[in-house]
Amino acid sequence: MHARITMGNVTMQTLEASHLRRWMMLCAAAMTQQHEYLTQLDAAIGDADHGTNMMRGFSSIESRLEGLPATARPSEVLLMAGTALMGSVGGASGPLWGVALRRAGKVLEGLEQVSLEAFAGALKLGLEAVTELGAAELGEKTMVDALEPAVRALLEAAARGDDLAEAFAAAHQAAEAGARNTAPMVARKGRASYLGDRAIGHQDPGAVSTVFIFAAFERAWLEA
Ligand code: ADP
Ligand code: MG
Repeated sequence: MHARITMGNVTMQTLEASHLRRWMMLCAAAMTQQHEYLTQLDAAIGDADHGTNMMRGFSSIESRLEGLPATARPSEVLLMAGTALMGSVGGASGPLWGVALRRAGKVLEGLEQVSLEAFAGALKLGLEAVTELGAAELGEKTMVDALEPAVRALLEAAARGDDLAEAFAAAHQAAEAGARNTAPMVARKGRASYLGDRAIGHQDPGAVSTVFIFAAFERAWLEA
């Protein structure tokens, strides 16, 4: 059942901890299923470990989910997930997604139910944490090229008052377009930046795994 909160005469759909738990489990399943593909992408322009890194990171989240009390709030799911990624992934993607989820979790502290607006705002702060840590800007062929448009799509959907299914479909599509757009780019950050023009023609692995993360969110909501 999708929860709603009513304010005045407006009823809003809300996210709860159960959605975020399901999101993390679907991410773990996607990374396990796609790890060879992600590693192939990283073999072309990096060091062939992105699939292994993401699979290890999200599997670690999945196993720690069982240890979270049933009463855990949305923020606690996100904080645990970020900490698990930081502690289990050696590559750049672990700390980057780790700070994103932790920053998003921090701003949602205390809430049982999270509106689309609040969630989009939290992910925006998560994106800021990624750019603070990794210093990548749009167009530098990193996960930011998928994450930034997805967060923007969520913020726009919240401003329009879209329902959550529309909002997460839009975020997924925006991430996908963003990841596709990384193919013609020259990398300016991360290992792919050592390749210069030779990175042209390959999608950035971190941008592609970001698409899987937003696809998982869309499914997590639809299956609720
Ligand atoms: P590593 O590069 O350490 O082997 P991964 O292969 O797991 O780690 O992750 C690579 C991905 O991390 C890249 O495809 C890119 O999307 C992302 N990435 C690397 N460096 C940065 C950075 N400075 N800012 C944002 N994203 C980055
Ligand atoms: Mg790598």
